[in-house]
Amino acid sequence: MTNSSVTRADFDNYIVPVYSPASFIPVKGQGSKVWDQQGKEYIDLTGGIAVNVLGHSHPALIEALNEQAHKLWHISNVFTNEPALQLAKKLIEHTFADRVFFSNSGAEANEAALKLARRYAYDLYGEQKYEIISALNSFHGRTYFTVSTGGQAKYSKGFGPRIEGISHVPYNDLAAMEAAISDKTCAVILEPIQGESGVLPADQAYLEGVRALCDKHNALLIFDEVQTGMGRTGKLFAYMHYNVIPDILSNAKCLGGGFPIGAMLTKEHIAQHFSTGVHGTTFGGNPLACAVANKVFDIVNSAETLAHVAQSRTLFQQALETIGKTYNIFSEVRGKGLLIGCVLTPQWQERTADIIKAAAEEGLMLLQAGPHVLRLAPSLIIEEQDIIEGVKRLEQAISKLL
Ligand SMILES: *Cc1c(COP(=O)(O)O)cnc(C)c1O
Repeated sequence: MTNSSVTRADFDNYIVPVYSPASFIPVKGQGSKVWDQQGKEYIDLTGGIAVNVLGHSHPALIEALNEQAHKLWHISNVFTNEPALQLAKKLIEHTFADRVFFSNSGAEANEAALKLARRYAYDLYGEQKYEIISALNSFHGRTYFTVSTGGQAKYSKGFGPRIEGISHVPYNDLAAMEAAISDKTCAVILEPIQGESGVLPADQAYLEGVRALCDKHNALLIFDEVQTGMGRTGKLFAYMHYNVIPDILSNAKCLGGGFPIGAMLTKEHIAQHFSTGVHGTTFGGNPLACAVANKVFDIVNSAETLAHVAQSRTLFQQALETIGKTYNIFSEVRGKGLLIGCVLTPQWQERTADIIKAAAEEGLMLLQAGPHVLRLAPSLIIEEQDIIEGVKRLEQAISKLL
C-alpha cells in the first residue's frame, strides 16, 4: 500500500473537470499490469489510450530516458539535436516521407498538417483554394483547428465562430466525397481506422477512390495516424495495409511509448512550403522525447514485434468472439492488429460504462470508443498470459452484469 496523501476526491476539488477519471488511482505499472494506491492489480488493455506501445516501465525505454537525462533535456529549435535527427532519419527511411516536423501531441501534428496543406494550396493555386474535407465522426484533436476539422459537433460547438471552409462527409462513402470535393479543396483528412468514434476501418476501395479524387483536384490527402501509427495495427503505419500513400501523415500516441511526442511526415515538395519561420513549436523535437521515441521505433519496427501483434490479435479475436457469442454481447470484433473494437449488441448498448466499471472491479482496464464500442489498445508486446487473464476478467465482469 502506497503511503499517499492524495486521493481521488482531490481530483474533484482541484482539477479542471474536463475529465471524469476512474475511481482508483494507478501508481505503478510493469508490462501490461498496473497497481493502484491500494495495491490492487489490473491488467491494462487501454495502453494509456493506445499510447504505451511497449507496456509500462520497459527497461530499454527507462535506459534511453535516463541516458538522455544525463546529457541534454531541452535546447529549443534554435538549435537542432542528435536524437531528433536520428528519429527523423528512421521515420523517413521506413515510410513514404522525405521530411518530418516534430510536435508534442497528436492535435499539434494535425494542426501542422492542416496549416501546411492550406499554405501549400495558397502558394501554388491562390487564396480561394482552402477548403478541407473531413469525415463525420472523425477525431483529430482538441485545438481549435482540429476540433473544427473533427466530425463530432459535441467537441466543436460553443466556442464561437467555426473556422471557415471545413466540411464533413460520411465515412466510407466515396460518392459523398466525390460530391463534396472540388478544385477549391486543399486537403482531405481521414483516419485509416476511425479510432475514437468506434474503431471503424476504412474500406480499401474508399481510400483508393479518395486518393484518386485528391489527385484529380490537386488536393492533398492527409492520413491522421495519430492512433493507428507506429505498429498499432501490425504494420508500422496503417496506410501500409492499404498501399494507399498519403501526402501528409500525422502520428503521436504510440511514437514515444508514453513520453509525449508527435510527428507530421510529408514529401519534399510540400515540406518546402513550411519555410523558415512559417510554423514552429518550443518543445517539439525535444531531446528527451526523441531519445525515447528512437528506442520505441527500433523495438516496434522489428519483424518479431510486428509478428507478435498479429499473434496476439488472433488470440484476442478468438477469445472475444467466444465471449461475444456466449453472452450475446458483441455483434462484431473489428479493427486491425492491437486496435480492437468490440461492438456491443443492442441489448448491451446502454451499458458500456457499466461494463467498464465492472471490469475495473475485476482488475481490468478497458476503454470505450464511441457510445457502443469497447476498445482494447494494449501494449504491442503484451504477454500471452496477460491476454488470457484479461479476457477471463472481462468474462467475469460480464457474468456479474447478467
Ligand atoms: C488521440 C488522437 C488525436 C489527438 O491527439 P492528442 O495527443 O490528444 O492531441 C488526433 N487524432 C487521432 C486519430 C487520435 O486518435
